[in-house]
Amino acid sequence: MREKARRVAVVVAILSVDVSARATQEQVQEVFLQWPLPPGAEDYAAIDGRHLLRYVVEQAAISRRYRDEVNSQFWGRIIGTSSDAESAEWLAGKFRAIGLSEVRLQPLDLLPQWMPQSWKVAVTGGGETFELASAQPFYGSSGTPPEGLDLETVYVGLGSDADFAGRDVKGKAVFVFSMLGVPREDALQRADDKGAAVLFDVLMLPGNLRYQAYPSRTDAPAFSLGSEDGYRVRDMIVEAPTRVRVNLDIRMTSGLKTFLVWGTLPGSTDETIYIIAHRDGWFDASGDNASGVASMIGLAEYYAKVPHSERRRTIVFIGLDGHHNTGEGSGVGRQWLVEHRDEVFAKTALVINCEHPSTVQTNVRPRYMTGEDIVWANTYTPQQWYAGGPSRPELQTIAAEAFREFGVSTYLEPNSRPPAGDLGRLYRFVPGVATSDFLHYFHTDEETPDTVPWTGLEASTRAYARIIDEVNKRDLSVFQRPTEPEP
Ligand SMILES: [Zn+2]
Repeated sequence: MREKARRVAVVVAILSVDVSARATQEQVQEVFLQWPLPPGAEDYAAIDGRHLLRYVVEQAAISRRYRDEVNSQFWGRIIGTSSDAESAEWLAGKFRAIGLSEVRLQPLDLLPQWMPQSWKVAVTGGGETFELASAQPFYGSSGTPPEGLDLETVYVGLGSDADFAGRDVKGKAVFVFSMLGVPREDALQRADDKGAAVLFDVLMLPGNLRYQAYPSRTDAPAFSLGSEDGYRVRDMIVEAPTRVRVNLDIRMTSGLKTFLVWGTLPGSTDETIYIIAHRDGWFDASGDNASGVASMIGLAEYYAKVPHSERRRTIVFIGLDGHHNTGEGSGVGRQWLVEHRDEVFAKTALVINCEHPSTVQTNVRPRYMTGEDIVWANTYTPQQWYAGGPSRPELQTIAAEAFREFGVSTYLEPNSRPPAGDLGRLYRFVPGVATSDFLHYFHTDEETPDTVPWTGLEASTRAYARIIDEVNKRDLSVFQRPTEPEP
């Protein structure tokens, strides 16, 4: 991070901003390119990205309080914990301050939740011992016996069959390397099938990121590892016999609750538009999904100032519990909506899922640049998008035009189904819109508020407002369709 701060300071110097102080988050945000408000879009000037970014910072603060007071290793706005409850109260407070009606928390019971209490991983070889500080268990990983495990290590490269050839991994700690964008090798599964005792998946991104991965679906405990730690172990294994000590204390915690957070802005008809955003996430969870929650709040603020008589449809806002607790019993809020869809979505013209609407554009080891950094650009990434699918061509056109108007860069073609996230369970029976991106800091401890350009928050939220306004000019029949079958 120190390296990044220095580089930002250089950029900021070019922009003639005061560099005497250490580069702060606001200074990082100074470099991002803003899309000017196009003619005819003046109404949307009230949606201000710098203002929305504060909501990202406030949510990251909830995570950090949890880290500092409850668990410094497995932290974030984690479903069922005190940070989940705090995030729900925080959002309800915003809804009340905006003047939404029927603001309430709907409690939902959770199945027992996977809660790692603590872990420690240390490697010894050639008379040297060091701790793997970046080790982070895969969600749902099994634990170790209380006394821990003390194991031989084996390195298997990218973990293909060729990499495993001639290597005995049975009962050992296996180190695999993997990288976003490289074909999947299912290396952890392969190692597990061959009887490995503990699995380490080295994330090859520069730095030493802690990455909270989704389940490995292996019997052996599995950890993600940052690349500095991973390369150090790899090089040690060549030099000398190397052993690893692993302790991972997992508990399944029962009796926890989570919440849907509701707020309503009545319109002049009983037809509805829903704006949803999931509240949970790991670490600061700034992109995923403080940014989406901020965008949802921005829309609530914007429409609360529109006179009641000019609001055709009632807008309902829902802070969802989320889905990072994958597996059975995950997404209970979303499931509740599915089960109550006939009441909830009977007269719904549009559901916008605000999920990761602004992500900093980063590049990994760019050609001809020296250094081992993730390099930042002064813009945000293009997004995957979905707008009702092929059976709703008007919604797709409305969305594409809105993205273009406000400079929301997107992939050329919409996804056939919504990008991974909360619309995925709802789109078969609601007219849904979602844009999303997941780049290098996704689910890592460096997914700080810096990684959410205010400019992207502003552009995406303005585009969502334009989509709402255009949808409100058309009748329900333009958007409603019979439920699509499961794919
Ligand atoms: Zn998300």
